[in-house]
Amino acid sequence: MIPLSSLPLKTESWQQQLGNAYCQVKELLADLELSTHYRPEMELAAEAFRFQVPRYFAALMKKGDIHDPLLLQVLPAAAELQHKPGFVMDPLGDQDAHEGNGILHKYHGRVLLITTGACAISCRYCFRRHFPYASHQALKNQWQPALRQLQQDPGIHEVILSGGDPLSLGNERLQLLIQELERIPHIRRLRIHTRLPVVLPSRIDQPLIELLGNTTLATSMVVHINHPHELTTELEQALCPLRRVGITLLNQSVLLKGINDSVSTQVLLCESLYSAGILPYYLHQLDHVQGAAHFAVNDQTALGLHRRMEQRLPGYLLPRLVREVAGANSKQTLPRSQNQKK
Ligand SMILES: *Cc1c(COP(=O)(O)O)cnc(C)c1O
Ligand code: SF4
Repeated sequence: MIPLSSLPLKTESWQQQLGNAYCQVKELLADLELSTHYRPEMELAAEAFRFQVPRYFAALMKKGDIHDPLLLQVLPAAAELQHKPGFVMDPLGDQDAHEGNGILHKYHGRVLLITTGACAISCRYCFRRHFPYASHQALKNQWQPALRQLQQDPGIHEVILSGGDPLSLGNERLQLLIQELERIPHIRRLRIHTRLPVVLPSRIDQPLIELLGNTTLATSMVVHINHPHELTTELEQALCPLRRVGITLLNQSVLLKGINDSVSTQVLLCESLYSAGILPYYLHQLDHVQGAAHFAVNDQTALGLHRRMEQRLPGYLLPRLVREVAGANSKQTLPRSQNQKK
């Protein structure tokens, strides 16, 4: 008989896998044979924004490579502790836009619903790294005030589940929420913004596929894949059944210095996404959140990169290069004129 300890990870539930995530920087670095790169400042950075990396995601990192593009996204760095002008606690003005009840209503016809503050991973560049979830989630799963507000505004046709990561909610809770949304006649579309399948493909389990396949709302899922190494066979296989039940799969990435800021990486990402049945949607300029300045790519460079992507990719595989501007009524496409003279 196979001893329990040697059974493959796949037999664990996604909740168990979440529970087993790395939460010590030292341990991850040791397993990657990178112990000599450990610095005490990493712990300080991890105190400001916690360190958490599912083992599945860590297994995609290359041993002995401190510049691994997946590792760099999650490794706490001393640079996070430096204050840079222009990098602020709430770069999107979310706290102003917030209507109470976990609803962010900034754009016409659609709202973001902050369902939970929990994520399966802590991305160091996260624009919500300082977001006061405790007072803002829709919350503690008391959906009623949020639902009442949605019911009273017939101009809202799409609800975007966000967070944190909405898929860190269990299927039962998601189902309850979706059933409530289905009862509101003017809501026709459901969108789920999630990075969870990317760091834990087992999250796309059969009950989730069924509940998303059965909803009467037109449903899309926007996953968050930044680098081709994140797009594994496991992930592709996990997402495939969602497409079969009619869910539109889109991707958004964040442009990150030293991680995915080369033309070849971006082109490969877009082409690989298409092979996996996912369309590139947005390539985001980093939100200027305090502690993430070292990931920023300047606009000129970003536009140059995007133009070279455009020269290599069919139009339908070119993500829109955007940034979010506090107070604006949509995401802002980076102005091309800045780039035209080159
Ligand atoms: C990004 C975002 C949306 C969705 O915008 P789309 O352009 O529809 O993808 C909606 N509301 C808020 C607050 C957002 O930040
Ligand atoms: S998964 Fe998304 S919300 Fe969660 S830490 Fe990463 S970027 Fe932030």
